[in-house]
Amino acid sequence: MAHQQEQIDLSPKVSDEVKFSTCYMCACRCGIKVHVRDGQVRYIEGNPNHPINGGVLCGKGSAGIMQHLSPARLSKPLKRTGPRGSGEFEEISWEEALQTATRWLADIRNSDPRKLAFFTGRDQSQSLTGFWASQFGTLNHAAHGGFCSVNMAAAGLYTVGGSFWEFGEPDWDHTRYFMMFGVAEDHDSNPIKKGLGKLKTRENAKFVSINPVRTGYSAIADEWVGIRPGTDGLFVLALIHELLRSEAVDLDFLARYTNAPWLVRQQEGHPEDGFFIRGEDGKPLCWNRQTNAAANALAPDVSPVLSGTFTLTDGARARPVFDLMMERYLDQQYAPERAAEVTGIPAADIRRIAAELAHAAFEQEIELDIEWTDWAGRKHDTFIGRPVAMHAMRGISAHSNGFHTCRAIHLLQMLLGSIDCPGGFRYKPPFPRPCPPGARPAGKPGEVNPGQPLPGPPLGFTTGPEDLLVNGDGSPRRIDKAFSWEYPMSSHGMMHMVIHNAWAGDPYPVDTLFMYMANMGWNSSMNTAGTIRMLTDTDENGEYRIPHIIYSDAFASETVSYADLVLPDTTYLERWDCISLLDRPISTAHGPADAIRQPVVQPDRDVRAFQTVLIDLGARLGLPAFTNEDGSAKYPGGYADYLVNHERLPGIGPLAGWRGADGSLQGKGPVNPGQLDAYTENESFWSYALPESQQYYKHANGPYLEYAQSMGWIPSSDQIVMQIWSEPLQKFRQAARGHGQQQPPDEHRERIETYFDPLPIWYAPFEEAAVSTDEYPVHAITQRPMAMYHSWGSTNAWLRQIHGYNRLCMHHDLARRIGVQDDDWVHVESHHGRIKAQIRTMSGCNRNTVWTWNAIGKRKGAWNLDENAAEGKKGFLLNHLISELLPNKRYSNSDPVTGQAAWFDLRVKITRAEADDETSEPQFEVLKSVPGEQKRPAILRFGEQFLPRSSWRRKDKT
Ligand code: SF4
Repeated sequence: MAHQQEQIDLSPKVSDEVKFSTCYMCACRCGIKVHVRDGQVRYIEGNPNHPINGGVLCGKGSAGIMQHLSPARLSKPLKRTGPRGSGEFEEISWEEALQTATRWLADIRNSDPRKLAFFTGRDQSQSLTGFWASQFGTLNHAAHGGFCSVNMAAAGLYTVGGSFWEFGEPDWDHTRYFMMFGVAEDHDSNPIKKGLGKLKTRENAKFVSINPVRTGYSAIADEWVGIRPGTDGLFVLALIHELLRSEAVDLDFLARYTNAPWLVRQQEGHPEDGFFIRGEDGKPLCWNRQTNAAANALAPDVSPVLSGTFTLTDGARARPVFDLMMERYLDQQYAPERAAEVTGIPAADIRRIAAELAHAAFEQEIELDIEWTDWAGRKHDTFIGRPVAMHAMRGISAHSNGFHTCRAIHLLQMLLGSIDCPGGFRYKPPFPRPCPPGARPAGKPGEVNPGQPLPGPPLGFTTGPEDLLVNGDGSPRRIDKAFSWEYPMSSHGMMHMVIHNAWAGDPYPVDTLFMYMANMGWNSSMNTAGTIRMLTDTDENGEYRIPHIIYSDAFASETVSYADLVLPDTTYLERWDCISLLDRPISTAHGPADAIRQPVVQPDRDVRAFQTVLIDLGARLGLPAFTNEDGSAKYPGGYADYLVNHERLPGIGPLAGWRGADGSLQGKGPVNPGQLDAYTENESFWSYALPESQQYYKHANGPYLEYAQSMGWIPSSDQIVMQIWSEPLQKFRQAARGHGQQQPPDEHRERIETYFDPLPIWYAPFEEAAVSTDEYPVHAITQRPMAMYHSWGSTNAWLRQIHGYNRLCMHHDLARRIGVQDDDWVHVESHHGRIKAQIRTMSGCNRNTVWTWNAIGKRKGAWNLDENAAEGKKGFLLNHLISELLPNKRYSNSDPVTGQAAWFDLRVKITRAEADDETSEPQFEVLKSVPGEQKRPAILRFGEQFLPRSSWRRKDKT
């Protein structure tokens, strides 16, 4: 019988035009090809040539069409006319909106620039927003990092000069053992997906997931370790104990590339106790085996001793970092049996995993026959690889012990010698950078002046008490108290404390709270109900405690209702944008890369890109970098103009590709007026592939370091030495012990001495230590679902069919203990609040942990959803249970080192809810639609318009 083949056109022409851009449906920044037909977005696919995704597109990415077509899009600037929260606004012109904002902002810039608190959410233009804030002169600026994963970023940058995700990635082509800790894949979705695809087809490769919940990529892990939340640090230190005990560490790597040999002063009571011993030239010293004397630890010919106690010429005693580390982690408090009690992971499993790590690193060593030259000019024939790679993000970051846990993971990597080597973790240029990078936060006394820019960026890296932003009496200078004695190394600021502190006037009142793309009136705040009260609270004169709130967003989120002035943003398919090397680029371990977004279609509403609005405001306010000498606007063409013509330093601008008048230069070079055309012709990205000989050991690879210096990424081509022992931490600790010019107020001394340990430590998360664990026996955590990343996902007609509401998920055993079963409703109570939610039982969950999808629960009336939409009726937030303050009310609910929001420290009790009415609690007054919101169709159809008219609604008829 003749085989009849169906004729399928695999590449139907669906569009008149294809434009390349960058996805914004999560933080991953994949390249996309957007098909446009009749001036409308028709179809989105992945760009096969793009360095991040290589053509892979996830469900969110393809659903970007419905984000762009969301009925919740704002359409015109709004001015509040009723009380905050009433939803009463009037539409105004852009001119009136910009004049109003300029009037408010000019007043405070000319009197006290601190009174502007400018905070942005998950935007991707932080190099612009931070620069704008410093030009304005306010130190009160940060983005979302403080409530996301700053522990991971800061721990990495202080320890190994890089970090996971944007700053580094596993060597997917060679790794054999991959460990992923906690919620981590939501930030690096497609690259990990691609990487796991490679790993899964490699013989004898293993993927181990350490996570209280087995969802997402953990579902395909070869081994799932259902750890108790907040105990990862002790698990990792127990692995380190085992590796040290069995002498399975890479001594050569430690001696060459880390500060393991550096001598540390051992002199109790001395101001420099615990500091590195340095020579007259300031270089750290080690003990040289050949001369049996102290020597420059950075000299290429030195042969350092790693153990022992040595007496120096001034009589001081000193020990190498390695020796101190051995003593610390060989202690029985880190033995697997002790860790097993705390983590819930059997001691035998901890021992086995340590042995597997050692086996992969040392028995499966890789050697790539590639010649390379190190920083001292020594030639090497091969790159030696230790094929163990790791990845972690918010899951371990969002605990009050997260900074030290993240440092512990990096210590584990260093001991295995698996950093920037074949099969290990690899830096993405412009990383590695010195540990920590050079920028210090600006805003010290004398640096914030009326009408003047700050002398530097408002965020940076403190290296000791001298870098803090505190007043003479030690009190905080920033509204969020970042870089104060309370949170000395808060490199990304502390966004979760801004509204609380501004409301309390602590440390001082602000005049204007200016926010972008941060849903602080709902899912981006702890203590959501309290935050709403703070946004609407008035003083004794009936004036709002936070006098002015300016908010910019593309969609009618819950926060819009609490703004006085709303500046409507475009969607990501309607504007120019930049994924810059000055910020968080799209580089891979193979080389640097950056990208743009271009307007694929023109807005059909009276909206403007926030970045263009900010540049316009900068010119109206006369900020020096945004105005010409005659006072005219420097970038009249908005963000596109700025992307091409702004130079942060001579020859260095937001975009690294096609610089120079003829576009022939990369990285550094004069402005190229045709730069954006060059990007769009190259599918909206630029990338450079490093030569093979520069692909590994970048921290010590001479030609790579010279290249990085020539690009302006690092100040010199000196070797970057990883920091096992962190002297900046010890400097704060010594200050707390009474040494130095700047010391903490007495109330903070003990806290700083305890938590500023120069070696990684583990301690119980603060909430766990503060509440009765008998009363609150269960951990409660969240994660982002695969199908939604931003809270705006609920306004996406395709994606909300996947996640219309969320359940509280728990192990069957826990449900039995509580006396509930699938679909029952429960009350969940913390020391701070109570909610009601519907449960779902499962097997892949730690038996003392409940979890849910974050930001699916919505306030009724917001996001242009129907009042009875599942998101508002059944959906819920755990945020209502999380306090922004610790139970002692003295400190914020944060890591004591970095100020990272401790979202995942939450402890709860759960009881069956009787008489359920299928409605979650708490419920709030229904938000009114704001003017200009599109009439919401009962069924949102897409695609019909592209079919012949005769076929419309044909499905409805059948
Ligand atoms: S992983 Fe993120 S950036 Fe990539 S396609 Fe999906 S949503 Fe877009």
